[in-house]
Amino acid sequence: MRNAAGLMLASVVSALVIAVVWFWTASPRADAAPPQTVSARQAEKLLATAAARPVPARGDVEVTAAIPDKPAVAPQAKATQAKTICANPNALGVSRVVEIDTTGGPGFGFEHFKQLDFLTDKEVVLTFDDGPWPVNTPAVLKALADECTKAIFFPIGKHATYHPEILRQVAAAGHTIGAHTWSHANLNTKKITDQQAKDEIEKGFSAVKMALGAAPSPFFRFPELQHGPAAMAYLGSRNIATFSCDVDSFDFRAKDATQIINTVMTKIAKSGKGIILMHDFQKHTGEALPELLRRLKAGGYKIVQMKAKLPLQTLAEYDDALVKEMKVPVTSMRPVNSVVQTVSE
Ligand SMILES: [Zn+2]
Repeated sequence: MRNAAGLMLASVVSALVIAVVWFWTASPRADAAPPQTVSARQAEKLLATAAARPVPARGDVEVTAAIPDKPAVAPQAKATQAKTICANPNALGVSRVVEIDTTGGPGFGFEHFKQLDFLTDKEVVLTFDDGPWPVNTPAVLKALADECTKAIFFPIGKHATYHPEILRQVAAAGHTIGAHTWSHANLNTKKITDQQAKDEIEKGFSAVKMALGAAPSPFFRFPELQHGPAAMAYLGSRNIATFSCDVDSFDFRAKDATQIINTVMTKIAKSGKGIILMHDFQKHTGEALPELLRRLKAGGYKIVQMKAKLPLQTLAEYDDALVKEMKVPVTSMRPVNSVVQTVSE
């Protein structure tokens, strides 16, 4: 009897064990499923959803999927997320952002100003003059966006009034915007009075402000890099920084994109670093830029973005004068149907 009862007990126990083992191995388990590859942003969303959902009392699938006691997003995932605005993993990018205190009107670019040697070896600042201009400026913007990098733009005031929407694209892309006079006049000739030089500078900045609907940076570049002493003193009194350059691309003279690339790469190899002067107004520059940026990256050059500590306070008299000058005269405010009547069809 004891043996029979023992046998019965043993078979019940083994049946139970087999059943449990079968259930364990045959039931679906989340951790046996292939790993899901999701971006940091999606993962964060998924984890947030999982955490919000009440954890069921039973069922290892749900519990495993919730991954409790882990931070919602690992720190490195957060860091990656912050950079996800850039779709290009091999982008040139921006290695350093510097903020410029323009008090007293500092000068940059070794071609004229050697006091402020702030760039280290292989550091480069990209600058573009004479825009905004259809096709060419957007081409430059696209090349910069594709490499997730930033530049300084020195637009001409008149061009800003012709194409304010293009200048707003430059601002929306996060680039720094200064000014380059109202009409691209050479301010270092005897023909230009001090008052005229002041008008060119201030009207240029006011035009950029009008186009952007926001104050530009107190960054200025003289047309043809012609720095007149009186105008320099005036810029100093207005706390506006003056930009010359270290590398002149001479892109306005180049016969094609290749010539611009070769000129810049040869000169930058010699200087080792510096502010590169280009023109978003020039068609060849937009064409050269994708390859030029790739070559800079391959050469180990790093982009420094220059930002102003404070925006420029434009002068109200120039802002007001420009608004008056730009205003389209309104001859009639009457509605169309009071002016034009159909009398015969
Ligand atoms: Zn220019």
